[in-house]
Amino acid sequence: MTTADNPLLTASDLPYEFPPFDRISGEHFLPAFEAGMAEQSAEVEAIATNPEPPTFDNTIVALERSGELLDRVSEVFFNLNASHTDDTLRAVHAEIAPKLSAHSDAIHLNPALFARVERLYEERDSLGLDEESAWLLRRYHLDFVRAGAALPEADQARLRELNTELSSLATRFQDNLLADTNDLAVLVKDREELAGLPEATIAAAAEAAAARGEDGGYLLTLALPTRQPLLASLENRALRERVFRAATARGNRGNEHDNKAVLVRIARLRAERAALLGYPHHAAYVIEDETAGTAEAATELLHRLAPVAVANARAEAAELAEEIARSGADHALAPWDWTFYAERVRKRRFDIDEAELRPYFELDRVLRDGVFHAATMLYGLTFTERPDLPVYHPDARVFEVFDADGGPLGLFIADFYARDSKRGGAWMNSYRVPSRLLERKPVVVNNLNVTKPPEGEPALLSFDEVETMFHEFGHALHELLSDTRYPTFAGTNVPRDFVEFPSQVNEMWVLWPEVLANYACHYRTGEPLPERLVEKLRESSTYGEGFATTEYLAASLLDLAWHTLDADTTVEDVAAFQAQALEKAGVAVEEIPPRYASTYFAHIFCNGYSAGYYSYIWSEVLDADTVEWFRENGGLTRANGDHFRRELLSRGGSKDAMAAFRAFRGRDPEIEPLLKRRGLTGA
Ligand SMILES: [Zn+2]
Repeated sequence: MTTADNPLLTASDLPYEFPPFDRISGEHFLPAFEAGMAEQSAEVEAIATNPEPPTFDNTIVALERSGELLDRVSEVFFNLNASHTDDTLRAVHAEIAPKLSAHSDAIHLNPALFARVERLYEERDSLGLDEESAWLLRRYHLDFVRAGAALPEADQARLRELNTELSSLATRFQDNLLADTNDLAVLVKDREELAGLPEATIAAAAEAAAARGEDGGYLLTLALPTRQPLLASLENRALRERVFRAATARGNRGNEHDNKAVLVRIARLRAERAALLGYPHHAAYVIEDETAGTAEAATELLHRLAPVAVANARAEAAELAEEIARSGADHALAPWDWTFYAERVRKRRFDIDEAELRPYFELDRVLRDGVFHAATMLYGLTFTERPDLPVYHPDARVFEVFDADGGPLGLFIADFYARDSKRGGAWMNSYRVPSRLLERKPVVVNNLNVTKPPEGEPALLSFDEVETMFHEFGHALHELLSDTRYPTFAGTNVPRDFVEFPSQVNEMWVLWPEVLANYACHYRTGEPLPERLVEKLRESSTYGEGFATTEYLAASLLDLAWHTLDADTTVEDVAAFQAQALEKAGVAVEEIPPRYASTYFAHIFCNGYSAGYYSYIWSEVLDADTVEWFRENGGLTRANGDHFRRELLSRGGSKDAMAAFRAFRGRDPEIEPLLKRRGLTGA
């Protein structure tokens, strides 16, 4: 294939180098990936063998500039494979993933290249580098060392073996979990047993059963966490118990899909890899590179929250026991009863009916008059739709974003509807990563999974979906407002326990009176959302936090228990280890199992959140403290937005994350606002 045939091989001539989706097809990716890797390998080899002595420019900046083609192909490919995949893209992914990982190893374990990086790092104080460049040199050195570049050759060989085995174990964990989740779906013969479920759910269960050749039955499929959403409305208690037991049995049945031996081996090999790299355990290795710094610091925060969360959960349990009695039943509260009775208490106490809310949350209005409006008030941004740019699916819409002075800032793709070709959940990603060095402006995308309305009807959102839209746009702002020289530091390239913080902050505008009044209007009558409903939304937002915090803390502490094991320890009994870990951490509550139990905790055993599940609440400390700052300083103003943008959003990863926070906040973060928000001030 020649350059002329493959649009990925040359830079796009569309505005902002927007990918020419109308000319890209699946077969363009493999040859473009191969060309991109070959190009970067040649560039890296030239840097490593440069006869000139190493300089910051001829080594570090040269590495930042390398791989332009590979970046372009990867950005388009990984976005499309998530938002609009097909058999061709899936096959490309299976073929290219191991090659990309070997390509990355070849760069990080190149001894001549590392020697140059190391020499520069040793001379760092005499190089006259500015703050961002010095931080970049430190980052490169750290990345090489953490990848094993400084180890003796024999250890590097063992490291490669460990990485290979760990990557195949992760795949096995994932495959086992998927197979066992499918096998454990609960088949119901009698429709009457499904009392309480919405009609649409029953219809979907009938379809799922038919697809498995069980015509006339109903198949209840399992969601990923322990807590199954179905249990909130399923009236039949025996069936609730069956669904709960099926969910918690995943990967733990002693059959061919059992994950116990797999996860024990993963924990062991990770500990060995950490030891090889000079750390006492995997958590120390991972968290050293996060803002928490040490496993002890992360654990301390969790331990501080645990007793109050558990006390609140016990108070909620007492209230649920009363609700059980009120309903005329005479059984004790079991884990499979919790969300069912919690839902009844919520309805009775707050009287919130989702169907009553939706007409006030029309998608386009929420986007333009809510999400965009808040960004205009805070940062002076304006948005113009660009229907002229070619998209990869008709549901994706492109907006050009302009800065306060009217100058071009970037492009924002809004891809909000669910479809078979899109993965679940909501996320932000980049098609073009901004960088002053490469003279690139951002092209970002927000994906949601909102059910598409029938032709000609408006999309009416749930309150959750409104919050998610503001959240994901918070990530988009982090990237759009990024003003770093180096692409390595652009926008959301910050530590994992920091990255959720700006997006969580953006959720504060959802119920902010001035913003809410601007977007929450009845789609037919234009009437504002009644104050009565606004009040209920505010009040109900903290209900159930005892349960939610406890199940989350339990999973986070379990994650740290597995990853603070040393290389000499092999766990014999997974169930006993888990029970002891929860007991020791003070989060063992019989009615509240951890959000994920070990045998189906995919986040930590295959999805890159190992020793990192604590991150969500770590980020939330910063988020709640920042919300407090906005409130203290007058809320939704340009001055506040500009300060947050200047000190934090625009910096991306170009300086120490906590130093950026302190520059913004004027002090270290305080935990009280988080405790207040989650109702954890009781003990
Ligand atoms: Zn997020």
